[in-house]
Amino acid sequence: MTEQQTEQQATSEQQPVVLKFGGTSVKDAEAMRRVVEIVERKRGNHPVVVTSACAGVTDMLLSTARCGGTGDLNGALQNVRHLRQRHLEILGDLGLPLERSCQEELTELLHEIEQLARGVVLLGELTPRTLDAFASFGERLSSLLLGDAFRAAGWDVAVADSRQFIITDSNFVNASPLMPEIDAHVAEHLIPLVQRHEVVVAQGFIGRTLNGITTTIGRGGSDHTGALVGAALHATEIQIWTDVSGILTADPRAVPQAAVVPHVTFTEARELAWFGAKVIHPDTIVPAVERAIPVVIKNSMRPDDAGTRILPDGSPISCGIHSITSKRGMISVMLGPRDPRATSLGFQKALGIFAAHNLPIQCAAVAEARAIITVESAGFNDVILAGLEADYAVELMPEMAVIGLIGAGLRSQPGIISTPLSALGAIPISFVVAGSSDHIILLGVAEQHATEALQRTHSALFE
Ligand code: ADP
Ligand code: ASP
Ligand code: MG
Repeated sequence: MTEQQTEQQATSEQQPVVLKFGGTSVKDAEAMRRVVEIVERKRGNHPVVVTSACAGVTDMLLSTARCGGTGDLNGALQNVRHLRQRHLEILGDLGLPLERSCQEELTELLHEIEQLARGVVLLGELTPRTLDAFASFGERLSSLLLGDAFRAAGWDVAVADSRQFIITDSNFVNASPLMPEIDAHVAEHLIPLVQRHEVVVAQGFIGRTLNGITTTIGRGGSDHTGALVGAALHATEIQIWTDVSGILTADPRAVPQAAVVPHVTFTEARELAWFGAKVIHPDTIVPAVERAIPVVIKNSMRPDDAGTRILPDGSPISCGIHSITSKRGMISVMLGPRDPRATSLGFQKALGIFAAHNLPIQCAAVAEARAIITVESAGFNDVILAGLEADYAVELMPEMAVIGLIGAGLRSQPGIISTPLSALGAIPISFVVAGSSDHIILLGVAEQHATEALQRTHSALFE
């Protein structure tokens, strides 16, 4: 073996693997024991485990916060009781002698949630910063318990505080991670733990500002944390463990016959996530791509299933549509000229109005003097409408959904769109956006038809 090869081997032996487990994968003691069994396969490879809150806990914490914000102390305290009961039950089921368990820290955190709820009721005010303080407890609690699950199985485990190294801006509730800061803080706080312990457990979803205030990086953000930690550690692989056996041809809740897609490219995965496939958070892919770290998505209930491997763009992959998504909660804004005789539409002004309100355009189709722009309804408001009406004749189509046909080489596939279009039959199609990307074709339909549209196109393309 050459000197260089020895060095490369030594480096890869020291490089950790990052395994992220979602809420259902850590929902109770049995699930946590399954996590330990999965990580056992990576014993000796410096596994770093990034965990979500136990399933449903983040929702309950946010509902506690909202109860507090509306002065409903009883509602808030009832939630805190549920949270206490749920976590103490897992603690008991993990079966570690209490003096070796995380009982004390767990009880302290549960007490802090109650104090926070009482504080919000007293203040009568709930800010995004306080919402983040509430939401952060889910991962802080689950990581303590998961640490115990490893300890009970005889591992030397460290539970890290992700807020020491996931540094973000102060856009509470949806904070953006700051990668150069994360690199520096991972080197200072996480790497020493990785070197000293058999396994490190860290929280997904949470971070802190440069001033030390707790933040969260958006719902479903633990995937993103997994990728950030993987990137900062130059991990050999980032594994996203969830409750399905990878990326499927469609959401199995709408299409039970959906099948696993064995390979997708980074760009496809990002489009999939952006256009509604909840299986992976859209921002997960960016840090992995930047450092060329392979990402796999696997099922914690069926660990032997191969899962989906996300490959670098340009990898040889079959051309055609690989999966279908649907994204609801959209509003389509139809713009025409205020003067009906006009033959062109100054489209740029409209783009500027959406940009000024930080409302990303999901898709747009423009023809002659008319345009149809689709955005998320939640971000659309009367101020934007008034801005548009100053320059355009505006018609709104609320309660829309966008069906995404996602794949590779779509521009060069003749007739690719004809099968899904004819499968829709009598379902009215409000718009088609094709050709702007090699990876995606979008169809606009009314929300009430979204599930049927998904099922029909799936059946025509894959069944
Ligand atoms: P986790 O808690 O592990 O992060 P999520 O609930 O966020 O899990 O994501 C997994 C879920 O994503 C699946 O249970 C499935 O219902 C949903 N999903 C939506 N679209 C897809 C798809 N194309 N492939 C796989 N799962 C999908
Ligand atoms: N617990 C957070 C949520 O429910 C983050 C995550 O699970 O990815 O959104
Ligand atoms: Mg998720």
